[in-house]
Amino acid sequence: MSTVVIKVGNDTFQKIQAAYASYRLPKSAPYTVFTAKKNSVTITGYTSGKVMFQGTTAETEAAKWQTSVSDVAKKTTKAAKLPADFQKLSVIGSDEVGNGSYFGPLSVCAAYAAKAVLPELKALGVKDSKLLTDPQIRKLAKKLLTLIPYRLLVVAPAKYNQIQPQYNAVRMKVALHNQAIRLLLDDIAPIKPDAILIDQFTPETNYYKYLKLEKQPITEKLYFETKGEQYHLAVAAASIISRASFLDSLDQASKELGFAIPSGAGAKSDQVAAKILQKGGRNLLANYAKLHFANTEKAQRLLQK
Ligand code: MN
Repeated sequence: MSTVVIKVGNDTFQKIQAAYASYRLPKSAPYTVFTAKKNSVTITGYTSGKVMFQGTTAETEAAKWQTSVSDVAKKTTKAAKLPADFQKLSVIGSDEVGNGSYFGPLSVCAAYAAKAVLPELKALGVKDSKLLTDPQIRKLAKKLLTLIPYRLLVVAPAKYNQIQPQYNAVRMKVALHNQAIRLLLDDIAPIKPDAILIDQFTPETNYYKYLKLEKQPITEKLYFETKGEQYHLAVAAASIISRASFLDSLDQASKELGFAIPSGAGAKSDQVAAKILQKGGRNLLANYAKLHFANTEKAQRLLQK
């Protein structure tokens, strides 16, 4: 008699349970969801998501679920866990700003915070840029630019509109993060960071899918966390630098056009876009806004009224 235990995702578990529904036995042991006996094989599903096959043909029976098992395993592969004491390590952090704003560029920054500089960053008040006011961000960014190595990549709207049809937002971000990190690694060489942490904007599998399209993909010691700035000051610093650059771009745009250019993608953006369309048409708007946003159409409709 042999025993095979497989671990499956919720979907497959449901399928297995349904497949043996007509062979069910009254369940007995704790933590079991179901027990069934088909021919010589006893199948037990556990609350943990494990399914045990016991009996002379256990292997054959379990193998029926093998394809879907490996599929599920691939999908649910847990992201690599951060090394211990992560916040104390020398880390490259990477973050982007502007992705959700109709006006302004997409700015990506990778910043290197070595162990030795961490106390100073903390003392300066470096934290998630979302918790800081715009004036605080500008002030902190100025200090950071001379304090730590960084690479900032800014895709202005004109360029963004050119490449957006071929590069969806995720692919664009993957390319930019990878490039910023690669350039920064070159800058700080021969020093190597203990780790690289990207403020996560897409599932890890998706990141790697697009990374395959890059000529020089960086994968070594690469980690992803949502709210990455909570795990290391390098990500917080990167978010502050990219945010300050984004604010500067909006300021510059306001100066050029003679009226205030808002961030975000709300009704205010529609109104300002209508104003720009009136002034110089779609060609002018393309220099300041990400045209594929719904705001463009809304602005055109405002003009027709
Ligand atoms: Mn982010």
